[in-house]
Formats: sequence, C-alpha cells, structure tokens
Amino acid sequence: MSRAPAPVVGGRPVAPFDPHRVRAEFPILSRRVRRGRPLVYLDNAATTQKPLAVIEALDRHWRTSNANVHRGVHLLSQESTTAMEAARGHVARFLGAADPREVVFVRGTTEAVNLVAHAWGRANLRPGDEILLTTMEHHSNIVPWQLVAAQTGAVVRAAPILDDGSLDREGFRRLLSPRTRLVGVAHVSNALGTVNPVRELAQEAHAVGALVLVDGAQAVSHLRVDVRALGVDFYAFSGHKVFGPTGIGALWGRKALLDAMPPWQGGGDMIRTVSFSGSTWADVPARFEAGTPAIAEAIGLGAAVEWLGGLPADAVAAHEADLLEHGTRLLEGVPGLRLVGTAPGKVSVLSFVLEGVHPHDVGTLLDLEGVAVRTGHHCAQPVMDRFGLPATARASLALYNVREDLDALVAALHKVRETFPL
Ligand code: PLP
Repeated sequence: MSRAPAPVVGGRPVAPFDPHRVRAEFPILSRRVRRGRPLVYLDNAATTQKPLAVIEALDRHWRTSNANVHRGVHLLSQESTTAMEAARGHVARFLGAADPREVVFVRGTTEAVNLVAHAWGRANLRPGDEILLTTMEHHSNIVPWQLVAAQTGAVVRAAPILDDGSLDREGFRRLLSPRTRLVGVAHVSNALGTVNPVRELAQEAHAVGALVLVDGAQAVSHLRVDVRALGVDFYAFSGHKVFGPTGIGALWGRKALLDAMPPWQGGGDMIRTVSFSGSTWADVPARFEAGTPAIAEAIGLGAAVEWLGGLPADAVAAHEADLLEHGTRLLEGVPGLRLVGTAPGKVSVLSFVLEGVHPHDVGTLLDLEGVAVRTGHHCAQPVMDRFGLPATARASLALYNVREDLDALVAALHKVRETFPL
C-alpha cells in the first residue's frame, strides 16, 4: 500500500495523520445502518463520536474506583477525587489556562453561559447596560442573556452578519460602546462554520471596558485554543462536542473574575460554612459546582482532551481543510444546491438548501442511504431569519471523516435530485 506524502502546512512538513487509523478507534463508525449500509456520520456539530480512550476511561472508573468525590476518606473516594481533579488539570492544559482552579466543571456550554449570565450578570448588570452578542449565536448564548436582562434592566444587542456569514465588523464596532458590559461571541458558528476573530474582538471590547465570553462549543474540536493568547475573560465548551461524554463541559474564567462572582446554585460542596444565620462560600471552582458532579463524565472529558492533544494538530487541521474543500467542490456540482455560510477560513460546517426540497425531506432521504446529517434551524433561529430560510441541511465534519464520506453524501444528494428534478 502506498503511503500518502506528509502534509505541508505553512511551507513545512508536519507529522502525518491517518484518518483511517483513527477511525478504527471509534467502534461506532464501523456500524452498519439502513439495509446494511455503512454509517456515514456527518452530524458532528450536534455531537461527536467517542474513541476507545474515552469509553475505556468511563468503564475503568465505574468498574474500579466509583465513589463520591471530595468528601470521602476511603480509598475509592480518594481515587475518584484524584482522577476528577487530574481531569480538571487536563482541561486547563487543553485550554492553555494558567491555573486548574480557573476551570469549572458544568453540564456543557449551555450551563456555562447560564452560570456567567446569572452569577456575574445578576451581580453586575444595571438598567441600561448592554450585552453585545452576534446574530450568529446559538440560542444558548442568547436566551440566558435575555433572562438576565429581564431581571436587571440590561439590554441585549446583536451585531449583524454579512451575506457570506462572516461577522460585520463595522456593525459590531457601531454597537460597541461604554454601555457595553459584556460581549458574547461564538468562536465558531454551528450553523455557518464561520470562525470569528475572537482576539481582535476581545481587544475592541476591552477598550470600552467590556468583558468577553466566548462560546467555544464548535471550536474546540477544530482549532487549537489558548485562552490567554485569545485574551478573553470566559470560555465555554461541551465535552460531547470534543469526543467526550455528554453531561459534562467546562467554563474557563479568569481567576480574579471568578473569585469576585457570587454562587448561582446552592447546595453541597459549594459552601465553606452553613448555619441558619447565613452561609459562606467555598473558593472557586467548588463555589460553582454545587452537588455531586458528573464524576465519570469529567474523567471521560479529561481522557478526550488528552487523546485529542496526542494527535498532530497541524496535520489534523490540514486533513479537515482538505475535507471541507473536497465537500464544497462536490456540493457545488449538485443542481439547485446553495451553500449557506461561505466565510473565508470557515471550518467543519457545510450548511445548504436544495431548491424545491424541504431540508427535512433532504435529511430523511439521506438517512435512507446511511448518511446522517442534521436539518432544521440548528438552535440558531436569528441566522435562519438573516438568510430568510426556515431551515437548512447541515453536514458537519470531524477529524475521523474521510473523503469517501463526502462522496457518499453527494451521491445520495444526486439521488434526491433525481427524485425531485428541478
Ligand atoms: N453553542 C454552540 C455554538 C453550539 O453548537 C451548541 C450545541 O450545538 C451549544 C452552544 C450548546 O451546547 P450544549 O447543548 O452542549 O450545551
């Protein structure tokens, strides 16, 4: 078998990456679906599949060490605590954080944004203050701010996007003002694949005194994230979108900011003292982790980011760029197909509409061919409104996808076109 030449990134060869070898680490990818067809999994923006490293970490924990954390003196509790805190360290390193205490385990991106909105927002927002978001935010970076705005009298604004799906930088600057207290922005749009210039946006936001929260849900599996280099204040992501378990994610926040924030949920583990005359709070991150955490899932998340960190990042990025280019070229050859979101430098997401066929019908017909894509508004209704669409079909890529997956997608789309001729 001939070996593919080492990819070249920025003029230099990088360690090779073999997606076929990586696929073998994902048992689900060898499943057969619909009348024995091989599974073509292109719904990675919704959730990613799990490698053996993660499956085995969960299995090992439950088989050997399962116990509640932090409060036990017995061996299993100590092992569970050690493993969970090691996972916090892995996540901190994965994000380039200065200190593992800046990493709060949460259920996912949604809970991370709610945490900041409620803990920071309720304590700091006053009537007339503004939260500046973008039109391409996922509902989970919109609705929590609307809830807190209703409670505090703050106002939510949304920066516009351009026809190709990139952020309208001028529009963003026009809305930024000394009234802006926080800018909330997706690192990568789940509906369009747009990569936002987070570092520059953070500089502009900080110049008017605003904090910056980044929704990294779609970024962490595609981009190398370094929260300090990005210069942001909060960064949120979900474990299940980065090859880890559901029910776990992380909020990274600058230590000084987290230290100054009151708790948002009360219960066990988040207190220093409790009496009926009043209670005092634990230090961060425990202050924001009330109740028994998702222990095995946190350990699984640690395993996921360690596994990802062990892959050659430049070669993975080159592979994903090749997939995106290959997919784009093929999709453009399907009669009546229009891509939605063509911003330069975009990653992973191929959102499209097929003239004369409702996206849900497209999704159902693709499923019959074994091709899993998502259809709908992708929890980004303002994006759909911006483009005057009720829904799109979305194929989203992960590092274990191969060109053959896109070939299968496009072959199935040609069949749909034959069924619904123009
Ligand atoms: N933000 C973006 C950009 C997303 O794509 C998603 C999920 O699709 C979320 C936030 C919410 O993530 P979760 O449901 O894991 O909390």
